[in-house]
Amino acid sequence: MNIISGIREMQSAAEELRRSGKRISLVPTMGFLHEGHLSLIRIARKHSDVVVTSIFVNPTQFGPNEDFAKYPRDMKRDTALAVSAGTDILFTPGAAEMYPDGYATYATVERITEVLEGKVRPTHFRGVATVVAKLFHCAMPHVAVFGQKDAQQVAVIRRMTLDLNFPVEILVGPIVREQDGLAMSSRNVYLSAEERRQSTVLHRSLLRAGEMIRAGERRSSALVSAMSEMITAQPAAKVDYISVADAETLQELPVLPPGAKALLSLAVRFGATRLIDNTLVTV
Ligand code: AMP
Repeated sequence: MNIISGIREMQSAAEELRRSGKRISLVPTMGFLHEGHLSLIRIARKHSDVVVTSIFVNPTQFGPNEDFAKYPRDMKRDTALAVSAGTDILFTPGAAEMYPDGYATYATVERITEVLEGKVRPTHFRGVATVVAKLFHCAMPHVAVFGQKDAQQVAVIRRMTLDLNFPVEILVGPIVREQDGLAMSSRNVYLSAEERRQSTVLHRSLLRAGEMIRAGERRSSALVSAMSEMITAQPAAKVDYISVADAETLQELPVLPPGAKALLSLAVRFGATRLIDNTLVTV
């Protein structure tokens, strides 16, 4: 495997690969890799000749009071894991080259960034869209793979890719979970043993809402109440939001119409750690 840190060097490698007819895939990550990331690398492997995995803890997607400085990092371990899953090029740009002095250009996706995560984290998706646009220009991928774990991020990237005419196919990998259902996340290491135990309620509450829908419940208020009751029964849990929205527009659905594709999503704090999870339901 090749490790590339320079942007120009990454672009030259991508240009050379494209000239020789290779199909390039990109898996953008912030590192501290786990099975969720590796599953995306394996999907990329299946859909391309050359897999580029990027590791960049992107400062512009963190709010001023968020965990940028203490975000977990372990480049040695990440390198070994990235290789084991089939990465050909590990792209590790530096913040000073990505955002040099005088940097002033951002990608703003309107409307779908104003709800859910975007409401609580007002500058987050501007940072995400900007860094993904930059990574597309660095690695020049034919295909890029993202995780359903960050459902709104997928919707934002799809919108930006379409709107800005990036010639990149967007693929989405399913949420990878721990055995007890907790969605894998680099941030799970922040949880205390007790918070970790209580955090399994998130997946259970989503499963319960799915069962209620299958049993005929169509009122979002009833679904949200049932989930909220389960979650708040855990003393460490503080709900940021629980949402039942249209999977594409992310607009709230008060009632689930027949045939609707709904995104059930939530954000819950356990102590200082904020966890998100979701499930897609076809009514
Ligand atoms: P991150 O390093 O948190 O920025 O995540 C990089 C990519 O991995 C994003 O596309 C995430 O949606 C995806 N991802 C993170 N956790 C999971 C998971 N548990 N299952 C599937 N994909 C995930």
